[in-house]
Amino acid sequence: MLAFAKGGMIPPGGVFFYADPVNGVPLLQEPTSFTALVSRVRSAYLSAGKPAPEPLASTVEAYICEHVPRGFCIGSYTGNPPDFMTPQAVKERSRDAAARCARADPGTVKARAPICGGCVDNSKALCLSCTGLTDWAVKMAGRTKMGIDDSLGICRHDRILVSLLVSLNGPAPKPDGRPDNCWRLKNVN
Ligand code: SF4
Repeated sequence: MLAFAKGGMIPPGGVFFYADPVNGVPLLQEPTSFTALVSRVRSAYLSAGKPAPEPLASTVEAYICEHVPRGFCIGSYTGNPPDFMTPQAVKERSRDAAARCARADPGTVKARAPICGGCVDNSKALCLSCTGLTDWAVKMAGRTKMGIDDSLGICRHDRILVSLLVSLNGPAPKPDGRPDNCWRLKNVN
């Protein structure tokens, strides 16, 4: 099972997180404490009437490891890294979208960002602060950085930097299995 490479490590973006939507556990995020997250996860399984996978702390640790950049953890990964993990591929798609779409107004951006921040498909598979991609996305969006930008990664469906995506009116989303509460399926204006 995957485990953090060193004790005391904090995932890129500064948040511990876990989700098991199939068993009724939504995305839970804990900015300061891994132990606090495990406790919340246990409560969530209890509320959902489902048995927590044991040992729970190791399961949560392995989940985080599968969703953060390779090298953060040690052990065997269950799959290959998705192709959007290369900074160049993400940058190219994002640059293309930025060139084609108008910018959303600040109120709309503020309404969208927390929805993405709480979305299981807000991928943290790249360390955007390490690569400078968050700052790049904010600059491309033509806005000032918000606190939540550090929690925004790459949309697994659009494969665009979320800090940029929330600031664009478009491109049109594909019906591709994204969560029902995705603002891209509704009009959050
Ligand atoms: S755009 Fe939709 S699917 Fe993508 S991260 Fe945001 S809420 Fe999730």
